[in-house]
Amino acid sequence: MTIQSTTGWSTIRGHRVQLEFFRNVLASQRLGQAYLLVGPGGIGKRTFARQLAACLLCPGTDDDVLESCGECSSCKQIAADSHPDLLEVGLPEGKNLIPIRLLAGDRESRGRAGLCYDLSLSPMESQRRVAILDAADHIEQIACSSLLKTLEEPPPRAIIILVADSEAGILDTIRSRCQLVRFSPLEDDDMIELLLASETVPNRQEAERVARLAEGSLSTAALMQDPKLQALRDAVYKNLATMPVDPLAMIDEVVPAWEDLGGDGNTKRVNATWIARFAIEFYRAVLRFLAGADTTSTIPDAQRLCQSMTVGDTAAIDRIAALLDRCLEAEREPMSNVMLPLALEAFFADLAKQSRIGTD
Ligand SMILES: [Zn+2]
Repeated sequence: MTIQSTTGWSTIRGHRVQLEFFRNVLASQRLGQAYLLVGPGGIGKRTFARQLAACLLCPGTDDDVLESCGECSSCKQIAADSHPDLLEVGLPEGKNLIPIRLLAGDRESRGRAGLCYDLSLSPMESQRRVAILDAADHIEQIACSSLLKTLEEPPPRAIIILVADSEAGILDTIRSRCQLVRFSPLEDDDMIELLLASETVPNRQEAERVARLAEGSLSTAALMQDPKLQALRDAVYKNLATMPVDPLAMIDEVVPAWEDLGGDGNTKRVNATWIARFAIEFYRAVLRFLAGADTTSTIPDAQRLCQSMTVGDTAAIDRIAALLDRCLEAEREPMSNVMLPLALEAFFADLAKQSRIGTD
């Protein structure tokens, strides 16, 4: 059996340990009925779960081998989202909880519809049924008992794969009935290849930059392509290119760009850390120049600032290193306990003060 290079595991980057785990499970015929895949958002857990399901449903490969042929009708139906034995539930568009309706039916059909019911039916085409429950850490409270019942007495020939960003949002009773498989953020090299393959970045240099900032999350990388976030980055860069930093100009230009990103309280906090991250990227570029490691920077504003500096100037190195420290601190403590705009103002004032030291 030849495996097409465009299908199957070859399309999935990273997660080699987890792949090896499931390979061993199948090879030793110890396939369980419930798995919980946990790891940071945007790293490909759901894609992994779908490929796992494809392998478990494909009749074209041996049962003890974790592969899908990519050519049989089962594989083609999975690719077309129309396999009758692959059941998938996730967050409805614009919602932050999975309603009981999707797991156990609405009031009129309670217990006779939804994922838990569908999973109890006999397979239609394959030897088994596979359910993927995405956002398993965001299930409506009342729906948890239906899921728990399914996990306590899994229907024969049923496999359920829960996918979650965090264990914290999952009831102990549910978690304890699943085999936990932990996922890690993507390595930079894998991110770079994925970004280039998806054609969301213009070139390798930009892919490397995005991979570094996105910290192993493809959804963060996608967010970075958001024009509003890019406008925030440009506002941060532009203001840092002037030494000393002008805190009032930063309030005038950076705060509105941050507000423009919108979002609820938590998203606003997360977005505020981008200001620190962009500043970190900026000052690191300047430090590389001062250390003689880079003669030109990929950040034009950093390049502009470097033109007023001399390679090896220890006073300048100290000043930039102190600014970088302050930004790293702001990134670690995402301005949680104070009104955000006030926290940002304090951060900008610190940068201004720090950037004046030794220049007066
Ligand atoms: Zn197949």
